[in-house]
Amino acid sequence: MTKPNMHYADLKDSYLFYNISQKIKAYLAEHEGTHLYRMGIGDVSRPLCDEVIKALHGAVDDQAGADTFHGYMPEPGAPFLRETIANYYRSRGINLADDEVFVSSGASDELGDILDLFDRENSALVIEPAYPAYVDANIIAGRKIVHLPAGRENGFLPDPSEDAVADILYICSPNNPTGAVFSKAQLKNWVDFANAHESVILFDAAYEAFIEDDSLPRSIFEIEGAKTCAIEICSLSKTAGFTGTRLGYTVIPKDLVRNGMRFNDMWVRNRTTKTNGVSYIIQRGGAAVFTPEGRRQIMENIRYYKNNARILTDTLDELGIWYTGGKNAPYVWMQCPNGLKSWELFDLLLNKIQVVGTPGEGFGACGEGYFRFSSFGSVEDTTEAARRIKELFK
Ligand code: PLP
Repeated sequence: MTKPNMHYADLKDSYLFYNISQKIKAYLAEHEGTHLYRMGIGDVSRPLCDEVIKALHGAVDDQAGADTFHGYMPEPGAPFLRETIANYYRSRGINLADDEVFVSSGASDELGDILDLFDRENSALVIEPAYPAYVDANIIAGRKIVHLPAGRENGFLPDPSEDAVADILYICSPNNPTGAVFSKAQLKNWVDFANAHESVILFDAAYEAFIEDDSLPRSIFEIEGAKTCAIEICSLSKTAGFTGTRLGYTVIPKDLVRNGMRFNDMWVRNRTTKTNGVSYIIQRGGAAVFTPEGRRQIMENIRYYKNNARILTDTLDELGIWYTGGKNAPYVWMQCPNGLKSWELFDLLLNKIQVVGTPGEGFGACGEGYFRFSSFGSVEDTTEAARRIKELFK
């Protein structure tokens, strides 16, 4: 008999978004036609910018001509895009070789696939509350998971601890769900800890483009010593609206070596075995994000979302409700008012003011008592949701 991977049986039901959709369905069944203010979504709402659309059209036309047509792309990424992304890092003072950059179909795919580089006996540390895929991907692989709970006392940005040592260390900054961003000094502690324990940091920088405070690090490679202990996983999903277009990139420095094995070489071998590269058309669209005009246009969308975040945080400031995030991230993570539990607040907001958010408990036990709002909706809905929240809690 075929033996399936029995670790799937260890996965907890992904009940968070299922529960939310069931509650919304039940509410709408009773209140037909009611408009809901959906502040829970992690997906973007603004379309791709013109510069990307132009590049995508151009690339489609390339595929129509015998001289410009592209077949299989190099598995680690098109040279033009690897160079463009490496230049983006160089422009921020981070020196990378082009072949330290790998093109991917998005951060989710990469966060799952990258685990091929690690032995199953390795343990994985997850700072919670956390993006659920970190835990689930390691449960599927049968790894031991070390949970490091974060809380209000450390602004949801815990320091490493000798009581929570692991081989693979997940760090997400700016964080989903808390919107909190590690400072350079805090990340240096993590880098030193990883080097001392010969661990590897998987640094999820999916929201780096939302950082506006120049003193905050947008890449782990701004930190001295990171090249010997970190892999950075990025995405154009939130940076440039590529959630449905799919493109990301991963940086694996050549100096990252464990037990005589170079992770960069291993990843080339992995990609050439398991992929046939990302679509030429999409890679052309992705390169347009890094042109001066492309950057100007994507920053307009990011400013639009950050204005939504500000509308929410201004309201929480007025109400005196504690929160993190919003300023350098698209998420606002607030403490539930009046001692409510996170699902109680969810029900209250839905039933009383038709606002939908995400209960913090869904991101790990230490998220209980907290609630996540996303800024990816429309400014009209965000403004009205904020007005209703103010009315409800004033
Ligand atoms: N990492 C984090 C922290 C995210 O929040 C998300 C998406 O919401 C991803 C990764 C996945 O991004 P992608 O769309 O590139 O797969």
